[in-house]
Amino acid sequence: METKIIDGKAISAQIKEEVKAQIENLKKEGREVALAVIQVGADPASSVYVGNKKKACAYVGIKSLAYELPEETSEEELLALIDKLNKMETCDGILVQLPLPKHINEDKVIEAIDPRKDVDGFHTQSVGALCIGQPGFVSCTPAGIIELLKRSGVAIEGKECVVVGRSNIVGKPMALLLLRENGTVTVAHSRTKNLKEICRRADILVVAIGKPKFIDHEYIKEGAVVIDVGIHRNENNKLCGDVDFEDVKDMCSAITPVPGGVGPMTIAMLMYNCLHSAQMQQGM
Ligand code: NDP
Repeated sequence: METKIIDGKAISAQIKEEVKAQIENLKKEGREVALAVIQVGADPASSVYVGNKKKACAYVGIKSLAYELPEETSEEELLALIDKLNKMETCDGILVQLPLPKHINEDKVIEAIDPRKDVDGFHTQSVGALCIGQPGFVSCTPAGIIELLKRSGVAIEGKECVVVGRSNIVGKPMALLLLRENGTVTVAHSRTKNLKEICRRADILVVAIGKPKFIDHEYIKEGAVVIDVGIHRNENNKLCGDVDFEDVKDMCSAITPVPGGVGPMTIAMLMYNCLHSAQMQQGM
């Protein structure tokens, strides 16, 4: 059996082209799309993520409003900025790069974002809407995984889907999205018993645990589709995922590599969410 390597780079590029074309159409109608990107402090990893998001905005034609605030910014000051951006008609999306410095309550900050501008999909209203099947923004990484599956021709309906990991930004929304697509979903986590057996039931296995190369061939059913969300640097400074790619790939019908699988989808979906926010505000 030939294993399909799911090309997240190509699929994310395709999504960005689609977004770019629609942004151009909006511009012709005199409507500019803008995303506020807020970073507090100068954590180097956050600076890389923020830089990549700004680059993607520039590419698709979204105006990025950059707010680089000092580490000592108070919670009050940050909340005041969010309030200002909530009211700003020319701002379609608000993104607060996490983690925030310890003296700022992240939950409080996320709750302060107007759900109509919550392009990260982290607000409780967005999560609640996803849970009961109402429209709202969906967390970018799991939304990107659904796009990867659909655009690779992987049917979800009726499939046994196992999600390993139950974080608020990946595992839980992933499980809800697979359920929305009519998969039969099991969520596993660090207290799960018989993890190998449960994973071996999966037609579609999504792994988001944050442990390098944790999933090997003993966790895989022949012919499964494997989606690896993890991202790590190994001892040789090379990127690897939560799945031992070389060990499992020949057993899978399809698999995402690291890098070049799930990773590039997150920003593409952020761009998609910004476009969607502007379209909603236009009443489209
Ligand atoms: P978290 O650390 O928030 O969550 C990890 C989850 O995995 C938890 O639910 C935990 O269970 C579970 N887990 C940990 N160890 C085991 C184990 N041995 N067996 C079963 N379950 C286990 O991580 P995230 O969801 O934020 O991220 C996961 C990975 O994905 C990371 O490597 C991260 O870097 C990467 N990532 C990649 C993104 C991308 O764009 N490609 C975006 C976001 C994340 P419990 O709840 O019981 O503690």
